[in-house]
Amino acid sequence: MKHCRKEPVEPQCLAAFRAKNPAAEWERDFKESGEGRACYATLRSALRQSQTGLCAYCEIRLTPGNEQVAHFHPKSDHSSDHNWALDWDNLWIGCLGGTRPADRQIGSDGKPKYPLPANRSCDEATTDAILDGVILRPDEVPPFPRLFRFLQTPDRLDIAADASACSAAGVPVERVEATIEKLNLNCRRLAEARLPLHRQLESAKKRLRESGADPGAGLRRLADIHLATDQDRRQSFFTVARWSLGRCAEDYLSETKFCG
Ligand SMILES: [Zn+2]
Repeated sequence: MKHCRKEPVEPQCLAAFRAKNPAAEWERDFKESGEGRACYATLRSALRQSQTGLCAYCEIRLTPGNEQVAHFHPKSDHSSDHNWALDWDNLWIGCLGGTRPADRQIGSDGKPKYPLPANRSCDEATTDAILDGVILRPDEVPPFPRLFRFLQTPDRLDIAADASACSAAGVPVERVEATIEKLNLNCRRLAEARLPLHRQLESAKKRLRESGADPGAGLRRLADIHLATDQDRRQSFFTVARWSLGRCAEDYLSETKFCG
C-alpha cells in the first residue's frame, strides 16, 4: 500500500448533487439514478487519475471490469447527519477484492484456487467495519519512508510492516499491521500475484551484477521502468518494486518528487 493523493477540490458534480440531495443513499439515489450515474463515472475517472490507476489498497492495476469506488468510512453509518456516502474525502478507488469470476480460478485439484471469503481483500474485506484510526487511510500512508516490506517464501510474497520505517515516520507499527490484516493483503491470491514481479526484479539485478556494468546506472534504469508513471498510470505492485530496488528507488522517488 502506497501513499495516495486526495485532490483538495472535489468534482463539481458531487458538490452539486450533495447540495441538492444531502441524505441521498449511494446505490439507490446516486450510483443508479440518472443524475448520479454520470457523476459516478466522473468520480471514478478523477479517483483513478489521482491514484495513478492503482487500487488504493492492494496496488493492483485497475481495469474497467475490476474497479469500484470504495468508502473508507462505511457508507452504511447513519449514526449522525454526516453523509459518508457522498463525502469526497472518504472516497477512494479500489479493485473488486477478488470477487470477480476471473479471480476465482480453478486449481489443478479441480477446486477454486482462490475461494471466498479467504481471498476477499481491500474494500471487500472490511465490509461495514469502522476502521478510522485503526488502519491507515491511503493518504495517511506517508510518501516517505516506505512503511511496508516483503517476505518471500517459495510460493508467495507477503507484505509486512517495516518496523524501523514506522518508527522513523512516527506511525505505530500496530496500525500498519492492522492495515495489512483488515484489508487481507496477505490472502493467497495477492501473495501469489506479487511474486512474479519480485522474481523478475531479482533476475534483473543478478544480470546487472554479473554484467560488470555500472550497477548504479542499471538500477536507475530499472527504477525508471518500474516506478515511473506511464500516461499517468503506474504498474501493479509499485511498493514491491520500490522495496526490491532499495536505496536506488528512494533516490529516484525523491528526485522525481514522488507524492502518490
Ligand atoms: Zn485491491
